[in-house]
Amino acid sequence: MDYSRLARLYEELESTAKKLKKAEILGEFYGSVEKKDLYGIVLLSMGQVFPSEQENLGIASEMMRKILQKVTGAGEKDVTSVFNATGDLGIVAEALLKKRKQHTLISRRLSHAKVMENLQSLPYVEGKGSQEKKMGIIAELLSSASPVEARYIVRTVLGEMRIGVAAGTVRDALARAFSLDKSIVERLFDVTGDYGRVATLLAQGKTEASVELFTPLRVMLADRAKDLKSALEKFGNAAIETKYDGFRVQIHKDGPRVKIFSRRMEDVTRQFPDIEKSSRESLRAQRCIVEGEVIAVGKNGSPLPFQLLSRRIQRKHEIEKMLREIPVVVRLFDALYVNGETLMSTPLRERWAKLKPCVKTSSHMSLAEHVETRDFDEANAFYKSALRAGQEGVMVKNMEAPYQPGKRVGYWLKVKEIMETLDCVLTGATHGEGKRGKWFSSFLLSVRGKDGLVEIGRMASGTSEQELEELTRRIEIVEDMGREVTVKPKIIVEVAYEEIQRSPTYSSGMALRFPRLVRIRDDKEEADDVKKVSRLFRMQK
Ligand code: AMP
Repeated sequence: MDYSRLARLYEELESTAKKLKKAEILGEFYGSVEKKDLYGIVLLSMGQVFPSEQENLGIASEMMRKILQKVTGAGEKDVTSVFNATGDLGIVAEALLKKRKQHTLISRRLSHAKVMENLQSLPYVEGKGSQEKKMGIIAELLSSASPVEARYIVRTVLGEMRIGVAAGTVRDALARAFSLDKSIVERLFDVTGDYGRVATLLAQGKTEASVELFTPLRVMLADRAKDLKSALEKFGNAAIETKYDGFRVQIHKDGPRVKIFSRRMEDVTRQFPDIEKSSRESLRAQRCIVEGEVIAVGKNGSPLPFQLLSRRIQRKHEIEKMLREIPVVVRLFDALYVNGETLMSTPLRERWAKLKPCVKTSSHMSLAEHVETRDFDEANAFYKSALRAGQEGVMVKNMEAPYQPGKRVGYWLKVKEIMETLDCVLTGATHGEGKRGKWFSSFLLSVRGKDGLVEIGRMASGTSEQELEELTRRIEIVEDMGREVTVKPKIIVEVAYEEIQRSPTYSSGMALRFPRLVRIRDDKEEADDVKKVSRLFRMQK
């Protein structure tokens, strides 16, 4: 298909804010696509080139700016001036290409398949000179693109389509295109985790799919409960499990063949050969898909901080060395498929009953600690002992609930100790990108040290657009370094966070993990001091 048809579709979708209208436009479009193109078109219509939206193309906006300069011959200033006005490199690309005179001479047509092929190759470009190669791959597309096509190619690469098409829109559109009930499309998606595949199946007249081993399933998510008591009251039949602070894995096994997927459906088998081996030894079922949490453990079996584990996840080399330095164990808590039987619509009670006999306990793999009770005292004792053992808290689960892939439906509730908040002062800020281009969107946090302010982290999420606008308005810039600015230390913010970690990055020597804004504190003129942070750091141990 000509990519120009897709560009027209994107424009049409962008021009309406109405969800229903979007589904209608998209449904009609899917209905007009040749069967062989459907897979790629569905992914591209969502702004994706891989089924998992998190798959990273590895192109930062800085690099995109360079590519645009190269392709259009524009200077850095031209790029920055359009970008500052719009906050959108897609529009920048379009504007610059319009300006470029020789553009009219290009007669080559760009196909959707070519766009797909080039973009899909990006994550596989590795090694020396890979940045240049990647730039070349994108530049090739932009050179033969019309201005409006360039707008959407750039946005696809950066993962910011701005056409308001969410998974729900695609589901509704496919239901329309194939005259089916939404629930049928949704169920296919639950099992395949890939709307491209769903569309292909529908086009073949199939409305059922079974779980496929080695194709990752979207994972079920948890909600946060106010406290243990309110969580227990929600369910008639509840289980309390330790909530381990680690890394979610979905293990697929067929005889000796094992693959490990992350919560984002990435294949992480290479980083965890030890889990691969223990899965082979400890999972008794011939064929299964089970889920659990990987945690790093110290010599005495106590959990090590998540930071250490994340070194294992990121490391793609010297894996053997990492295996010895950071040993891990897996605590299994769910079974989605066992020996030919798909268990996703089965209640947790039965899934747990199927999981138990599957697991031969070893020092590397065992079941999650799990008790079934609605008695507050018993649950509370379990909760306290999990905290004493250095774990994050507990999960309270509805034993009668099915497995709902990719959803937070309140069947699993996490209960964690709330950390005391900290009052920090803003000392720096970074301009936002994309939708947040109008504001500062990330803020450097500091607290009082012995000899002046010391940095303690960066707050980039948990702020609403209203709050971003307010912070941006209030900030007084001291030094402007382009995207980053230093600001007058006068705005005090109360922040919540997941954890305090040691960190060489910030001048306090510590860092807040996932800091989020609770409120702006107009009633205070001073931030907390580093002593308080150290006290909280020790307390969490
Ligand atoms: P959160 O990431 O805070 O939303 O909490 C959900 C995550 O907790 C899951 O994705 C798992 O990675 C993790 N987790 C740890 N222990 C368990 C457990 N027993 N059951 C389910 N999830 C768990």
